[in-house]
Amino acid sequence: MYGVKQLFVPATVKEALEWLHQNPQAKVIAGGTDLLLKMRNQAMREVVLVSLHKLKELEGIEILPDGTLRIGAMVTFTQVNRSSLVREKLPFLAEAAVTMGGPQIQNVATIGGNLCNGAVSADSAPSLLALEARLVLENREGTREVSLEDFYLGPGRVDLKEDELLTAIKIPLPRHNKWGGYYYKYSMRRAMDISTLGCAVVCAVEAGGQVSQARIALGTAAPTPIRCRQAEALVAGRFLSPDLLIRIGETAAGEAKPRSSWRASKEFRLELIKELTARTLVQAYQNAGGEYRDEN
Ligand SMILES: Cc1cc2nc3c(=O)[nH]c(=O)nc-3n(C[C@H](O)[C@H](O)[C@H](O)COP(=O)(O)OP(=O)(O)OC[C@H]3O[C@@H](n4cnc5c(N)ncnc54)[C@H](O)[C@@H]3O)c2cc1C
Repeated sequence: MYGVKQLFVPATVKEALEWLHQNPQAKVIAGGTDLLLKMRNQAMREVVLVSLHKLKELEGIEILPDGTLRIGAMVTFTQVNRSSLVREKLPFLAEAAVTMGGPQIQNVATIGGNLCNGAVSADSAPSLLALEARLVLENREGTREVSLEDFYLGPGRVDLKEDELLTAIKIPLPRHNKWGGYYYKYSMRRAMDISTLGCAVVCAVEAGGQVSQARIALGTAAPTPIRCRQAEALVAGRFLSPDLLIRIGETAAGEAKPRSSWRASKEFRLELIKELTARTLVQAYQNAGGEYRDEN
C-alpha cells in the first residue's frame, strides 16, 4: 500500500548524511504523519526511506552557551509541550504545540517535520517566526544556518537540499524582562483540524505600559508564513488603544496575500487577519504584564 522499496535506519547523523549523499532520491522520514499520507495519496512507488528515529543528535531541548534555546529536529509536539525548559522560557510555545492535531499526532509528529514539509498552515511556523528562530541544516559538506523566514520559498517549498537534514531549531530567548507571546489558531474545529488562519505575536512592554517591540507572524495568510513588519512598526513605542488595534489589523491584512480555499474564502481570511492580529497582540501584551481593557 505504501510502496516502500527500502528503509535505511542510520545510527548517527554522519551515517545518515553519507547515505543521503549516495542516495539523493531517498526520502527522509521523521514521524511520517505528512510523508506517509503523501506516499499513499500520490501512490508513490519504489520509495527509498531514510528514518531519523535512531538519531540521538536530533533529540533534546537545551540552552546553548550563547543563551539560545536549541530544539532538536526530532522533538515531538508533545515533548515541546511537556518540556520544563520550554514552559519556563517560552510558555506560549509550549501552549502552541498542543494546538496542532490531537494527542496521537502530537506524540509522533516532529517540529522538524512540520517545518520541512513546507505547509503554509504549519502550526509551529508563526510562533517560531515571531521568535526569529534559525534552522541548522547539515549535509556531508558541512553545516549552514538560515532564518526560518528565508527557509520558506513558496507553497510546499523550502530551502532544503536533497542531501540535507534539518538537525535543530535555534531560538534566541527574548532578553526584555517584560515580554509575552501568544499563538491564536483559528480553525473550523477545535481539535484535529488544520488552521484556517494562525497568528503569533511576541511583544515586549516598557515599565510605563508602552509596547517597546512587537513581532507579528501569520500562517495561512500568504503563499508562505509571513512576518507583518509594517504592522509591527505601527505598534513600536505606542500604548495600545482601540484605534491603534484597528490600524494594526488593517495594516497586517494589507501585507497578507491570502487565497480562497475550500476552508475559507480570501475575503473571510482578510477579516480574520484584522481581528486575530489585534486579539493576539492584546493577549501577548497581557502575557507580558501589560494592562489593557477594551472599553467597547
Ligand atoms: C490527522 C492529522 C492531523 C494533523 N494536524 C495538524 C495540525 O493541526 N497542524 C499542523 O501543523 N500539522 C498537522 N498535521 C500535519 C503533520 O502532523 C505535521 O506537519 C508534522 O509536524 C509533520 O512531522 P513529521 O515528523 O510527521 O514529518 P514527516 O511526515 O516524517 O516528514 C514531513 C516532511 O519533512 C521532511 N523531513 C522531516 N524531518 C526532516 C528533517 N529533520 N530534515 C529534513 N527533512 C525532514 C520529510 O522528508 C517530509 O518531506 C496533521 C497530520 C495528520 C495526519
